Amino acid sequence: MSDWTPVVGLEIHAEILTESKMFSDCPVVDSVTAPPNTAVDPVSLGLPGTLPVINRRALEMAMMVGLALNCEIPPVNQFARKSYFYPDLPKGYQISQYDRPLCVNGALDIDLADGTTQRIRVRRAHLEEDTGKLVHTAEGSLVDYNRAGVPLLEIVTEPDIHSAEAAETYARKLRSILQYLGINDGDMSKGVMRVEPNISVRHKDDTGYRTRTEVKNLNSIRSLYRSIEYEVARQIKAWERGEGVRQATMGWDEVKQATVVQRFKESAEEYRYFPEPDLPVVEVSREWVAAARARLPELPDAKRDRFIEALGLSRYDASVLVSERAVADYYEGALTEGANAKSAANWMLGSLFSLLNNNSVEREAIGSITISPQQFGALVKMVDDGSINKNTAATVLGEMWETGTHPAQIVENKGLGQISDSSIIEDSIARMMAENPVWVEDYLGGKDKLFGPMTGKVMGMLGGKADPKVVRERLQAALDARKG
Ligand code: ADP
Ligand code: MG
Repeated sequence: MSDWTPVVGLEIHAEILTESKMFSDCPVVDSVTAPPNTAVDPVSLGLPGTLPVINRRALEMAMMVGLALNCEIPPVNQFARKSYFYPDLPKGYQISQYDRPLCVNGALDIDLADGTTQRIRVRRAHLEEDTGKLVHTAEGSLVDYNRAGVPLLEIVTEPDIHSAEAAETYARKLRSILQYLGINDGDMSKGVMRVEPNISVRHKDDTGYRTRTEVKNLNSIRSLYRSIEYEVARQIKAWERGEGVRQATMGWDEVKQATVVQRFKESAEEYRYFPEPDLPVVEVSREWVAAARARLPELPDAKRDRFIEALGLSRYDASVLVSERAVADYYEGALTEGANAKSAANWMLGSLFSLLNNNSVEREAIGSITISPQQFGALVKMVDDGSINKNTAATVLGEMWETGTHPAQIVENKGLGQISDSSIIEDSIARMMAENPVWVEDYLGGKDKLFGPMTGKVMGMLGGKADPKVVRERLQAALDARKG
């Protein structure tokens, strides 16, 4: 065992996709597809003479995230000015929250691969406005202010995370909660969710924390994982060599797969925080909190427990099915066709997920594949009630993926319906036995393992369309009769 343990606290920024911006009625647009600088107004640019107005809807949605993370909502919160200059922040300060955040003292439980559950404390979640976006080109840097002023929620954990795996699990779970709440789609490549790990290491003899570094602007969960692994190894080496670690803001170099220092960190004093004079203090009545709580949808943990208790799924299957909202929605859509819950789960986690994999479709995009949840459910039901067997179903599923045709239609068009007429099955068994007298003789003489090939032969004669269980039963009966 190593003498060192990773210590990580995560800061996650989540854009709240309201219709209008945090402090004005300027529309919020997709920051990747919308033409640059088409959703800007004097307030988001902070032009002289403008005044911000708080977006009530953004506040409510942010409160719902806080409640989903088991936070307390203090009776009063307050916006504050965080002063710094950067080309993507034209007014020279960002309206954020400082010592009176919207949400405090929450917690999220995560399930780790070793079967343990760990509680990650959420220190605070505060509202702020997003900045614009810089685009660096060969000719120079360009700035797009569409994103300036978009409501942004910063969610900060305590340094309770002790592995890259735990950080990844927390980030995935938080992302799925955002999706369930409809706050944003969690697409890190578009920057609607951004994760920044604060990383230090603890020696087994330490009583306090060591200096940390912070990695900025990660655009995938994979780079979150890798940057933590890298930074932990680098810090352990630095301490062991006696060099020590300097507090710094770092970036992740995708090409080198390494962290690089961007700047030695600024302190809170440098931001010169003070209460935002253009906005009132926000009072949050208990009725308002209760109303937000009442609007919470069923969240992933509750859905997982319901899948286990009401549908009889295993904890593992249930966890996978709820981990992305799109997957859970698809699964529940499939059940509306009356398919058995466990077989639907098996078919989804097995064959359907393989199809997604083989076609490089992300699980969260399952809602846009050619096979509708209802058609998928209908296919599972056809297997359940014996109208097709599993092999046929796999073929039909492949065709559904290609053409989007209803499974019943494919089965009818191709004559794939399962043969359930036992007299047809018995005829084939009789014919197989007549054509292979040596097999039958050897079997009756004790060569039990010939049963498999004989079953296979009969299945082949029936074009693979019979229920293998029925074939085995009838064949056994026919052979027993010969023994008799
Ligand atoms: P700041 O206000 O400068 O951003 P905070 O103390 O609020 O600093 O912490 C920011 C984040 O850093 C939090 O997620 C916190 O859990 C984490 N953090 C604080 N100290 C450490 C440490 N020694 N190692 C790892 N993470 C830390
Ligand atoms: Mg910070």
